[in-house]
Amino acid sequence: MNLILLGAPGAGKGTQAEIICETYKIPAISTGNIIREALKSGTEMGLKAKSYMDAGQLVPDEVVIGIIKDRLAQDDCKNGFILDGFPRTIPQAEALDKMGIVIDKVIDIEVPDEKIVQRMSGRRVCEACGASYHILYKKPEVEGVCGKCGGTLVQRKDDHPDTVNARLKVYHEQTEPLKAYYSAQGKLSVVEGQEEVADTTKLTLAALKA
Ligand code: AMP
Repeated sequence: MNLILLGAPGAGKGTQAEIICETYKIPAISTGNIIREALKSGTEMGLKAKSYMDAGQLVPDEVVIGIIKDRLAQDDCKNGFILDGFPRTIPQAEALDKMGIVIDKVIDIEVPDEKIVQRMSGRRVCEACGASYHILYKKPEVEGVCGKCGGTLVQRKDDHPDTVNARLKVYHEQTEPLKAYYSAQGKLSVVEGQEEVADTTKLTLAALKA
């Protein structure tokens, strides 16, 4: 099954992607995580992407399209994949089509902007493995420590409130049109993001089976 998770930054796509990945045994691919990894390793692509990311802007289409093309060509994607954070623009969606990739379903997780701002200020990520936590909704067992790898939990620079507003503006202008794009293809299912992660998960899994 080839899936796309759509939704504003902070809507909970990453968490749902992890759960679908475990349930369906298909890899969850986050362009944001790939770019952050590249940045950590100091690659040219990572350094180029940094200024866009820090400002809450999108990295140019040709860069992320290249990343996804390479990633989807890997063996573990043969039986399907979940894209988290890609596509984010119409040209990115068109690039997937041009690659001959058939998307089966697109799940759009809807969360109002006010909630997003509240959620993102509490989001913490593991410096080492990228796992995502929240100081209210998804607390680690030990404060500040990743339950998966023992790494340190930090706030992403682009989760700071000033950048969050810029990211939401970009989302509404450039990413939201993808809802109409996939709805026209009969592939879109809308999931209302719930207060509890487990409740959102139930809706997501039900949408996948529908
Ligand atoms: P995320 O972790 O998905 O919120 O992504 C963090 C940042 O990485 C975004 O704010 C963008 O700067 C960049 N990014 C990730 N995915 C994409 C994409 N598909 N297109 C453009 N920029 C992206």
